[in-house]
Amino acid sequence: NTPLHELDPEVASAVDAELHRQQSTLEMIASENFAPVAVMEAQGSVLTNKYAEGYPGRRYYGGCEHVDVVEQLAIDRVKALFGAEHANVQPHSGAQANAAAMFALLKPGDTIMGLNLAHGGHLTHGMKINFSGKLYNVVAYHVDEETGRVDMDQVEKLAREARPKLIVAGWSAYPRQLDFAAFRRIADEVGAYLMVDMAHFAGLVAAGLHPSPVPHAHVVTTTTHKTLGGPRGGVILSTAELAKKINSAVFPGQQGGPLEHVIAGKAVAFKVAASDDFKDRQARTLEGARVLAERLVAADVTEHGVSVLSGGTDVHLVLVDLRHSELDGQQAEDRLHEVGITVNRNAVPNDPRPPMVTSGLRIGTPALATRGFGAADFAEVADIIAEALKPGYDAASLRARVTALTEKYPLYPALGA
Ligand code: PLP
Repeated sequence: NTPLHELDPEVASAVDAELHRQQSTLEMIASENFAPVAVMEAQGSVLTNKYAEGYPGRRYYGGCEHVDVVEQLAIDRVKALFGAEHANVQPHSGAQANAAAMFALLKPGDTIMGLNLAHGGHLTHGMKINFSGKLYNVVAYHVDEETGRVDMDQVEKLAREARPKLIVAGWSAYPRQLDFAAFRRIADEVGAYLMVDMAHFAGLVAAGLHPSPVPHAHVVTTTTHKTLGGPRGGVILSTAELAKKINSAVFPGQQGGPLEHVIAGKAVAFKVAASDDFKDRQARTLEGARVLAERLVAADVTEHGVSVLSGGTDVHLVLVDLRHSELDGQQAEDRLHEVGITVNRNAVPNDPRPPMVTSGLRIGTPALATRGFGAADFAEVADIIAEALKPGYDAASLRARVTALTEKYPLYPALGA
């Protein structure tokens, strides 16, 4: 029963330092968020000790009566939240959810379509050295060079030629909404399943502030830790018809014992996601991204070759285009890090720089919205970012403006400083 600080001071001090980093900087990685203390409490609970292979009511281990309650709560809540017929809450991550969904629907060698990685797709949507690229024949679609948007005519043309078994709609770095009805029409036309990976925008969907893919897709996958703001993990939603296939692809197809402590965190997060506070937070997330895009487009930093892909955003992130800037993605990420803002560099379509350098930044607002930021705060953040990307920026004064914002919205005060 020795506490962490006594048993393992090295790990404890790194955890403390990470808490301090999160508290004292502006977290703007679009895929990150701050889980509520109650979610972390569930994740840090005794449920971590329990084996529970199988599903509620049908386990391969004894003593599952309490984890059954937890897992069933998570299932019922996420089904209600998204209006889904079936839910599997066991995938350990988003990548695991996608792998299981693909194993359920495809055979090795089948053709799949997904958004190209450099155009905003995810590794699991068909990247060459990912399982998806190795197991399946991948035909990628792209964003239009002029508009920065997915061109449904191109998707349709490619689908007619490639006759995929599965079309993946979803993204990790794309600032606009996808047309799920059009994707489904194309999938039906060529006899493909439609899988929507809503990992990034699931929180917006839950709040009713983004079109839902659930009525259109055969399968919807998501992570639970991005806009949804829960513990790290994955979920698969599907039609009732596919329920058995999905469940057996997760267990025993791909995973062993489910992480019931994480599933407890998911259940709590789904309860939170059904609240009015959550909706308000998602509205501030969207507004923040809009303010950020507008101010970056209008700022005099555009004289230095900085622009915004697709000219704006409909979601929780902005993609900054540095193809015409002297600053590359790595340098821009480092500059923002220097002033206390955490973002990630990101390849842009037709990026002339190598993948470890890139010509873009992905900047997201979910974590700051969770912290309490509103439109005026995001305007200040946008101005700090624009200043930091200009030559001759004053790092010390920008860092002080960041600190003023972090102090205005204390994070995890109950956990100490
Ligand atoms: N799907 C999308 C669209 C993502 O952006 C991500 C993560 O960035 C994943 C899946 C994978 O999630 P995880 O990192 O939990 O495996």
